[in-house]
Amino acid sequence: MKTSIASSEATDLSVPEAQACILDRITPLDAEEVGLAQALGRALAEEIRANRDLPPYDVSAMDGYAVRAADITELPRTLQIIEDIKAGDTPRLPLQSGQCARIMTGAQLPSGADTIVRVEDTRPLENDKVEFSVPVKPATDIRLCGENMRRGDVVLQPGEEITPGTVGVLATVKRAMVKVVRKPRVAILSNGDELEALDDPFDPRKIPDSNSHALMAQVQTLGIEPVHLGIARDKPDELADFLKRGLGYDVLLISGGTSVGDHDHVRPTLATLGVAMHFWRVKMRPGHPVAFGTLNRTLVFCLPGNPVSSMVCFEQFVLPALRRLMGHRRLFRRTISVQLAQAVKSRQGRVEFVRATLSRDASGAYVATPTASQSSGDIRSMACADALVVAPHDGGNLPANAIAHAQLLETAAFQDAPDIQD
Ligand code: AMP
Ligand code: MG
Repeated sequence: MKTSIASSEATDLSVPEAQACILDRITPLDAEEVGLAQALGRALAEEIRANRDLPPYDVSAMDGYAVRAADITELPRTLQIIEDIKAGDTPRLPLQSGQCARIMTGAQLPSGADTIVRVEDTRPLENDKVEFSVPVKPATDIRLCGENMRRGDVVLQPGEEITPGTVGVLATVKRAMVKVVRKPRVAILSNGDELEALDDPFDPRKIPDSNSHALMAQVQTLGIEPVHLGIARDKPDELADFLKRGLGYDVLLISGGTSVGDHDHVRPTLATLGVAMHFWRVKMRPGHPVAFGTLNRTLVFCLPGNPVSSMVCFEQFVLPALRRLMGHRRLFRRTISVQLAQAVKSRQGRVEFVRATLSRDASGAYVATPTASQSSGDIRSMACADALVVAPHDGGNLPANAIAHAQLLETAAFQDAPDIQD
């Protein structure tokens, strides 16, 4: 017999309602200090200021000659080279009229110099002389002191995502250690009597557990190393033991057993363990039987067992939740506008997430081609997809050439050709 679940559980929410129901219950986790090499993908938990002016003095942006622009108004003009200045050198001699200094990229300008002439625009002569024959304006190819950052400037704000560029900024201001939001601890559980674990002996009558591994990988793309709890069978007591372990984490992901079958024990068992279930079923396809609950600060996601449903529900609900826990501001996958290469069927009342590959047409616009199978049981449709096209719940079928939004999946960051003109 199924245990009844608290009446506060909402059903048949829209996708945005379900997302709001989850995100409203989440605040970022605590901060921790990590080494710069561990910071990639995390959200900054402190304001970062510049600790010096950069460049620290006016420097040359080119290899060439530091000159006084007024000296080379009439061309050609020959100047005497008085010094060689490399990056890191301190110029020794101020430039007088008629003089120049050979200077390398990044080297400090000597006093008196007000512009740079590129080496390509000069001709070396004997006796440390050089001829200038191309006109140059004052302040050409000079990077001014402090033009990149001034000491005390805020260079990064709390909440900013640490990308390779951000790591570069942090290194620039000499932050070997940095405060970031800690990562959530995530546990993953599969459920079902029919499932065969990756290391179980092969039995052709069983269904291989792919969900827990695909979910592990989805979590790993966020820089989180989840814990694999294994497979709980469709027995409430055994399931309860697994769930108790999982409830010790920040986030518990369970796939399977969340529907209305006689052996779908996940939701009632969670309820007996004190988990408050907030919603069950979302107006979407695939993924309709998804459910969400909390116990104290632990978030519990019950994902449908069909392999595509589990992954699509991860994308819509778990990913934004994990990103909010991690302190990120951007929670959702980037969407782009696409033209559909083929008609897309959608069921009235449910948002349809259509797996699609992306290409560009002659004008450069994105075209989405639905994958051959749209079955929620066909994991290969996820393996080859670049994007999920969102067919709205009230639009009916979308004809070929219709314009729709597509959520970019992890793989969409890369393409075959560079798309750069020769
Ligand atoms: P359920 O949500 O338990 O009703 O399962 C729906 C479908 O998904 C069934 O065909 C299950 O065999 C399949 N399924 C459930 N869990 C997994 C899993 N971990 N890996 C692959 N398929 C699964
Ligand atoms: Mg099942």
